[in-house]
Amino acid sequence: MPGDLSLVFPHRIMVDIQEMLEALDKVTPGIASDETLLYGVEVKFYSNRVVVDKNFETSIKGLRAIGDGAGVTRGLQQASANGLSVARSILN
Ligand SMILES: Cc1cc2nc3c(=O)[nH]c(=O)nc-3n(C[C@H](O)[C@H](O)[C@H](O)COP(=O)(O)OP(=O)(O)OC[C@H]3O[C@@H](n4cnc5c(N)ncnc54)[C@H](O)[C@@H]3O)c2cc1C
Repeated sequence: MPGDLSLVFPHRIMVDIQEMLEALDKVTPGIASDETLLYGVEVKFYSNRVVVDKNFETSIKGLRAIGDGAGVTRGLQQASANGLSVARSILN
């Protein structure tokens, strides 16, 4: 079946993932549901970037580019931190 992680991960890893989901289910009930979708394996080889200065301002004054759209981040935590740091730089 397409997307079947057991085709790419060794059995031991699949068992570990199952155990992790069951442990997580105690903290966030429902995560070990049959509806939970796991996907993988993901590799990103590209990084288109907008040119920005250290305050993430583009060559257009007052226009900032941040987060994944700017090619600066690649994940939720990075994008959140990027948003906070740029908000602070605007306030300053
Ligand atoms: C399928 C998938 C799974 C992912 N899983 C994970 C994961 O497990 N862990 C992890 O850390 N990261 C994951 N990511 C990456 C993560 O979602 C992104 O890194 C993060 O959301 C980037 O945040 P952002 O604020 O930069 O951009 P976005 O979250 O993309 O926000 C951009 C916003 O701008 C809006 N927008 C676009 N154009 C306009 C416009 N013209 N006017 C007004 N608004 C506009 C969009 O609607 C959107 O709401 C995943 C991404 C995908 C696609």
